[in-house]
Amino acid sequence: MKVAVVGVGTIGAMALLHLARSGVEAVGYDTFTPGHDRGAAGGESRIFRVAYEEQADYVPLLLESLERWRSLQAAAGQQLFYPVGCATVGPGDHPGLQAVRDAAAAHGLTLEELDEQAARIRVPEHPLRPGESLLFDPLGGLIRPEASVVATVGLAQAAGAQVRANTAVLDVQEDGDRAVVVTEHGQDAFDRVIVCPGPWANRLKLFAGFQLAPKQFVATWFPRRDPHAFDLNRTPVAIRVGTPTFSCFPSVDGVSVKVIARGPAFTDLDDPDELPRSVGRDIIDHSAAAVRAVLPGLEDTPIRIATYSDLYSPDEHALLGPLQPGSPVTVATAFSGHGFKLAPLFGEIAAELAVDGHTDHDISFLSPSRFQATQQA
Ligand SMILES: Cc1cc2nc3c(=O)[nH]c(=O)nc-3n(C[C@H](O)[C@H](O)[C@H](O)COP(=O)(O)OP(=O)(O)OC[C@H]3O[C@@H](n4cnc5c(N)ncnc54)[C@H](O)[C@@H]3O)c2cc1C
Repeated sequence: MKVAVVGVGTIGAMALLHLARSGVEAVGYDTFTPGHDRGAAGGESRIFRVAYEEQADYVPLLLESLERWRSLQAAAGQQLFYPVGCATVGPGDHPGLQAVRDAAAAHGLTLEELDEQAARIRVPEHPLRPGESLLFDPLGGLIRPEASVVATVGLAQAAGAQVRANTAVLDVQEDGDRAVVVTEHGQDAFDRVIVCPGPWANRLKLFAGFQLAPKQFVATWFPRRDPHAFDLNRTPVAIRVGTPTFSCFPSVDGVSVKVIARGPAFTDLDDPDELPRSVGRDIIDHSAAAVRAVLPGLEDTPIRIATYSDLYSPDEHALLGPLQPGSPVTVATAFSGHGFKLAPLFGEIAAELAVDGHTDHDISFLSPSRFQATQQA
């Protein structure tokens, strides 16, 4: 069987690896060189966590994904995942904290709840204000996104996959039980095609009608005051809920700490190729105000600012499944700001769906048909 993967980014790299390891003839296409920072895989760090506030259906998938991150790291021979845990911080009665508690209770996960005094000892980088709690998910951690994509593509190529870098796919056409990939160099026919173009999905006709929206993220890096704080091998990744709301990552560069604040920085983007490379003063001020409010271990002026994008679906859950029942085209996109942690499993599932036509994993809540049903109603 010959299978194409359109988009060798976060999910496409993982799908390509699974296909190649399964003995399938796999060909990946990417507009750029895999590992690039223009899409959803840039910015040097991602959060992994299992006590998942977004939806409890994800918890079994996250536990499986964690196993796959460990084996990917072993196969890659380099550290891609830092098992430092994940802290969710905010007012004790905030719905975001309650959703984390509920997900942990529903699935029997270990979750530690620290008060101000305990948090000061365990996670001094994230001091609590009166009435706040810190929930510690010990299975959480930090993932290195660019390193993961590059390592995965290398493993896929070693297992026999071909990668056509700097080759944009212009169209994917169903042709009976096969599919055709169109590039500026011509057309290639495949038994199956997996389409995972991330923020660029709307460029392909097959996503017309899904109402998918690319969004811009702005990441800001603030210098540490104490060179021993926010240590990558010890400090949990953190999500703050309430006011301010942001995610915060231990220091990867040994100098600064990345903060991604929700608010004016998180905006719609018409075209991912138009992603602005600089941002307005309001966005910097918003991020700096968040740091000043609750991160006393950081200077309050960023030394690095960068923009990235991801693709959102209307309900902020991915599209993972056949384009329509029986189609030779499987779509895996719109991971809506939370797809990285699940990438090894989602890539594997996309490959299973394409090759075998089914998966044993319960991903019915991600079926693309949920939006097609809405359109027809
Ligand atoms: C700043 C930021 C922070 C995030 N934080 C987290 C986090 O902490 N935890 C978490 O789990 N998730 C997080 N996410 C979300 C997660 O990173 C994304 O959901 C995930 O990376 C999406 O992967 P993807 O494969 O859909 O897109 P991408 O990784 O962007 O891959 C798409 C690939 O397709 C290629 N492509 C597109 N169109 C074509 C075409 N026509 N022909 C050929 N190639 C094409 C692109 O060049 C690209 O390489 C974050 C996202 C961002 C942007």
